[in-house]
Amino acid sequence: MIIPRDPHFTADQLAEVQAIVHEFGCTITPIPGQTRSVYAIKGDERHELMINRLEGLSYVSKVETIQSPYKLMDMKSGLAGHRIQIGGKTLAQELFVCAGQCTIDPKNPAFFIETAHAVKEAGADVIRGGVWKPRTSPHAYQGSSEAIHILIRAREETGLPVNTEVMDEDQLRIALDAGVDMIQVGARNALNYSLLKKIGELTRDSGTPVLLKRGMHMGPIDEFICAAEYIVANGNPNVMFCPRGTLPNLDGYRNHPDESITPLLKQKSWAPVVVDPSHSVGRAIYVPHAALSAVSYGADGLVIESHVDAKKGIGDDPKQAIHPDVLANLIADAREIYSRARRYSQAYLAQPATV
Ligand code: PEP
Ligand code: MN
Repeated sequence: MIIPRDPHFTADQLAEVQAIVHEFGCTITPIPGQTRSVYAIKGDERHELMINRLEGLSYVSKVETIQSPYKLMDMKSGLAGHRIQIGGKTLAQELFVCAGQCTIDPKNPAFFIETAHAVKEAGADVIRGGVWKPRTSPHAYQGSSEAIHILIRAREETGLPVNTEVMDEDQLRIALDAGVDMIQVGARNALNYSLLKKIGELTRDSGTPVLLKRGMHMGPIDEFICAAEYIVANGNPNVMFCPRGTLPNLDGYRNHPDESITPLLKQKSWAPVVVDPSHSVGRAIYVPHAALSAVSYGADGLVIESHVDAKKGIGDDPKQAIHPDVLANLIADAREIYSRARRYSQAYLAQPATV
């Protein structure tokens, strides 16, 4: 990774740097941050002569060669101070909450609009709403592009940013063109490297934040961090990790709750951790406990399914959406725990992980 002396290279500087790395069979991807850019070297970046030539340029501050499968996501990366901002919040500084329906029902748009206002009132920073749904059965409701208009209406009416899941490039383009503020990669696509690359490429200029769910069959923590690396290496550093439970499930829960990986993730990578307790436990009555437990584990945020009248909802809402009144109390309690839990994270953030 090349760190420039000024916040960005000029076009001429970039061209010169590119010409040098090409000689050694490498390429460069600019990764624009809020205030400065870093430049990822793709290929074998360990050529001593290449590093010397780059470091000899007056406008290069340093060249970092991190021997990690996720050199951009690594704690030692030049991106380590990068902060993501959305909905007026800076992640990892204040508790972040994304809430709303699992699924927008195009036949009942009023529910979604009412939910959007209610979750805003409850204290959410971003409204979530599923437009396209990854369903286990092909016979179940698959979502509909029509619902994107309802999502955007909620954004216009509440003034809050909106989040939705995309499963392919077409959906990604529709969502970005419509002005969706935050993109979700679901558990089923967490290892869809083509999609992850495409998201990085198509959000390079906008820097649209991406919520990357943990795959339900993911084991090693590095597999999760490497998946995020695909998005960042293709140009967008605004990635959040989202543990959402894995399989096999704990008997009685929808998945096996995995909020406990939060301290490990935060020790290995600088990216914020936004836990989804809804899909983890899968029942509205357990969601508040799971959410508070995630915050106790040091999570930077929560993504929670909420609905004004869950029994009339579709998708996951009848089972796991909490009422916005419950959400309001939960956010207040989570904020208290958040500030207390931060005291304990300082100890492990200062030392390397042992896995
Ligand atoms: C969702 O957020 O509604 C969803 C389908 O999540 P996951 O990909 O975690 O199953
Ligand atoms: Mn859902």
